[in-house]
Amino acid sequence: MSSTPSNTLEKATVRRTGIVIDPRCGNHCMEADAPECPARLDVLQAMLREPAMGRHFVEIPARPVVRRSLEEVHAPAYIDRLEATAAQPRVYFDEDTSTSPGSHEAALLAAGGLCRAIAKVHTGALDNAFALVRPPGHHAERAQAKGFCLYNNVAVGARFAQHELGLRRILIVDWDLHHGNGTQNCFADDPSVLFFSTHRAFAYPYTGRLRDVGKGRGKGYTVNIPLLPGFGNGEYLALFQMILSPIALSFKPDLVLVSAGFDIHVDDPMGGMRVTPEGFAGLTRLVMNIADACCRGKLVMSLEGGYGLEGLRDSVRRVLREMAGLQTADTAALMASADPRRLAYPLWRVQRIHGRYWPPLADLGVRLSLMDRFRSLLTWWGAYLGS
Ligand SMILES: [Zn+2]
Repeated sequence: MSSTPSNTLEKATVRRTGIVIDPRCGNHCMEADAPECPARLDVLQAMLREPAMGRHFVEIPARPVVRRSLEEVHAPAYIDRLEATAAQPRVYFDEDTSTSPGSHEAALLAAGGLCRAIAKVHTGALDNAFALVRPPGHHAERAQAKGFCLYNNVAVGARFAQHELGLRRILIVDWDLHHGNGTQNCFADDPSVLFFSTHRAFAYPYTGRLRDVGKGRGKGYTVNIPLLPGFGNGEYLALFQMILSPIALSFKPDLVLVSAGFDIHVDDPMGGMRVTPEGFAGLTRLVMNIADACCRGKLVMSLEGGYGLEGLRDSVRRVLREMAGLQTADTAALMASADPRRLAYPLWRVQRIHGRYWPPLADLGVRLSLMDRFRSLLTWWGAYLGS
């Protein structure tokens, strides 16, 4: 990576895209067979050294997040507990989540790296950015490490943007396979942060029902779309275009953050979804379109899951090329591959539940016959019983 963007591709579409990737995030080691492992960053680092990649991006050095920013999201006693793990060979927080002596520094750099990326995009020094950090964050609760996550990076980043940079409305898009329970809970009653999540139904962490729409003043600002396995490029893009886009354009965010998980990749060992690198590029383009329309393109991604190393590498490469304007996904062609039978039920339910909060959704015009509703319910029951 260079300290200044390449001037070899001076087209209108080329953007200054920053990347956070710090070798110290590789010092967080869980057990030897843990899928969330340092090799995930190694393959990304190697990919960024490819001649066709590195020179187009600007490196953003990570700095540890400051305690004040952590306390916007996490309980002080929990932060103390995580700090103390640096002196211990291994501490277990749940059956999937443990720390090594390097974990706490990695977690500080993950959250801090994302905050720095947000600050650079906010000032206009960069157009957009991707924090390639670990540990991931979206399962971390206020006082609980969970599901490979220690600090909730994207939640800390959103509060940093609001309280340190003065931004008002933040959109968080979470396309990881798993529901971002920690992020949802952090902002459930807050109408200044819109949380949109697509995730696999009846899978870890078993939260994120469609009826969970937020609480109090935050009602309508949590949008959950649980999905059955088998969703691919076309269906994901159609959901983003038909549901996320109209909601986001009404919300008018000052910044768009993405909890970018790559465990919906077709070859992911945990997945069950069928998204390809081109599909991730299409999702990126749709999110860029929202950011362009609302906040001069201000978009920052943060790495969450993704456990097939080749799929992770190829997908992040393609997302970065999209963000930098080196390639443009054909979103219409991708959406044309959507299976309308898979889409009908989630669209119909979102229309019914969120149409009252977001008027554009009331006009989706999805109709389901009684027989189709019955068939869909049977399919969902089958998936529930088989889970
Ligand atoms: Zn995940």
